[in-house]
Amino acid sequence: MSLQQASRYHWRVLLLDMAARYEDSLTDRVLALAGVDLDVRPVSNLDELKPALEDSHFDFALIAGSSLASLAQQWSQSGAANLPPELALLLVLDESPDEAEVLECGMPIAAVLLRRSFTGGDLLAAMWQARLGSMFFASPDGMLLLDAMGSVQASNPAALRLLGKQTAELRAEPLELTVNERGQHEWTSAGGRVLEWRKQSLSDTGAAAVVTLRDVTEQRVAAQALAFRAEHDPLTGLANPQRLWQELRSALARADRDAGRVAVLYVDLDGFKQINDMYGHEVGDALLVAVAQRLTGICRAGELLSRMGGDELVMVAESFPPGFEARIAERVLAALASPLRAAGRTVRVGASVGVAVYPDHASDSEGLLRAADEAMYEAKRNGRDGYSLATSHADTISQHRQDIADGLQVALLRDELHLLYQPVLDLKRGQIVGAEALLRWNRPGVGTLHPMEFLDVAETTGLIVGIGDWVFDQICRQLAQWRWVLGEDFFVCANLSATQLRRADFAGRFRRILHSHGLTSKSVRLEISERVMAQELGRALGDITAATDMYIAVDDVSQGLLSLRNLSSLPIRSLKLDSSLVAGLPDDVLSAQLTEALISIGRTFNLSVVAEGVENAAQLAFLRERGCDYCQGFLLSAPVPAADFPSLVKTPELLDGLVTPLK
Ligand code: C2E
Ligand code: MG
Ligand code: MG
Repeated sequence: MSLQQASRYHWRVLLLDMAARYEDSLTDRVLALAGVDLDVRPVSNLDELKPALEDSHFDFALIAGSSLASLAQQWSQSGAANLPPELALLLVLDESPDEAEVLECGMPIAAVLLRRSFTGGDLLAAMWQARLGSMFFASPDGMLLLDAMGSVQASNPAALRLLGKQTAELRAEPLELTVNERGQHEWTSAGGRVLEWRKQSLSDTGAAAVVTLRDVTEQRVAAQALAFRAEHDPLTGLANPQRLWQELRSALARADRDAGRVAVLYVDLDGFKQINDMYGHEVGDALLVAVAQRLTGICRAGELLSRMGGDELVMVAESFPPGFEARIAERVLAALASPLRAAGRTVRVGASVGVAVYPDHASDSEGLLRAADEAMYEAKRNGRDGYSLATSHADTISQHRQDIADGLQVALLRDELHLLYQPVLDLKRGQIVGAEALLRWNRPGVGTLHPMEFLDVAETTGLIVGIGDWVFDQICRQLAQWRWVLGEDFFVCANLSATQLRRADFAGRFRRILHSHGLTSKSVRLEISERVMAQELGRALGDITAATDMYIAVDDVSQGLLSLRNLSSLPIRSLKLDSSLVAGLPDDVLSAQLTEALISIGRTFNLSVVAEGVENAAQLAFLRERGCDYCQGFLLSAPVPAADFPSLVKTPELLDGLVTPLK
């Protein structure tokens, strides 16, 4: 194998011998000596260098002359003077230059000098050196060589570009490498670019250190945008709930330390849904942005405004004198008193504001927000467009709530939650046709907890969202299993809380879970309590009002909170009479009349009526006679674990005495 074949390198060399001697062909010597695979192209004068380099790629230009001074003179007069600085240049000289000649000749600074009597080893070493020099010049990162005093000795074009300076300017002043306030090795150039620098000391060389500079502007901008997105609401640019929680906790910690106070103002726009419905989402969104801007304008130092979702905003205020919280609420209402411009329209929007103060009304951030939320509902009840102050310390039981919250955080992971199923009897067909799924928490060391003992905490902490998804998923799995035993039409009722409803895309998520189990929405009936329905009217219900494919039941009907108009405008299929109503049957006159009235409303609006909490035969007889469609209760069965459900339903004695044959 020849040397050339064995070589791992193939380099292309442009060669010009300006002091060629007949007896010595530089081309031949270069080819013979280098020990690497060379492809040499001779040119005859300096003017040919540039076009040749533009024509095809060369790794080196090797130029031979009698002296550096004569070469430099011809160089400056020829087209070679503006060759790219990253060109790896070897200069072969008959005479060795002195120091002054080297420094002042005006040739490219990274050119490597060789004596004409070079050996193969000299040539190879020079070639590598020239390549390294060329890398220095071609690097997209800025590079500066510093001397022991910290002055710039050499700089590559990228460094000049990044710093916006000429070599001479850099040499004239010592380089100041600054560290920003976050301790990062960064500085912002005069042109506004963010430069990251790194300094590496060199040993055994003339230069004391090399500094690399990198333009990280785009990275920093992207990182800032990401950080902003993680903490802000995309529509209004206000703080998002995560940021609010974070800030609220810190504010409470500061208040503890300084014996200060923190006010939370829960702001809910009045009639936002109507505006959305009347003018469309575009105006609705623009209105939210306009409200956010207006309220941001009245925020003072130490106040934070955030958007919780929908048309709910929360303001947190610190360091204010006692009693001043009412003034902040008035400031918010006054700011919204004049109309706003939204997507070309002039809109007037009022707000209901609930105010709670730490430590007067709560002893933790969750309690504080809840107290403000409750006060906001109070303001709504009082006629809207006003504010209401939380009245009492809402959570002396806050320690207990914290304990529940801590336990719930891990309950799902530790498999501590499960569902019980209570059969639903079709009174007309005399058959079990469905079940209600009821959540239980087996809390180690405590026992089995009913939802009423932990749902409120699950809601205020937002944990209900994950739990709710788990419940749906669990129900769907169960239904898929039961389909063969209990039939295609068997349904399960799932209970929904306000927080779950308020989530954007609730309907979409629900459908996705159903479809992932091959089920349709008629298999899972959604129960929303009458209280939540009434509260959420015009707010979160928006998402499901359009969801006509869902089966929605109003749960715990006892108060008549929903107006008849709302019953017909919402996609409701069923009314579920609360056990408190059923408990009074048949003797309590008011309960009996209300039950009859509700059954009749159900018939008028084509809604099925379910009675729950049926505990005795007299209640059942009353309900059946009045035409109630379904019933649930201990008389039939308490909620049972999923594993026991099919056999329970198939027990022939279960319905003994409960159903009368169809006439
Ligand atoms: P609900 O939807 O009204 O459920 C009926 C409640 O009545 C259940 O209480 C059930 O165990 C109880 N019950 C059943 N038969 C009788 C009876 O004959 N007499 C009496 N006095 N009570 C009876 P539970 O299981 O404690 O659930 C309470 C509430 O918790 C439910 O009321 C529902 O609003 C909520 N809930 C239950 N599971 C979930 C869930 O998975 N997610 C959500 N968000 N809420 C749930
Ligand atoms: Mg229910
Ligand atoms: Mg109920």
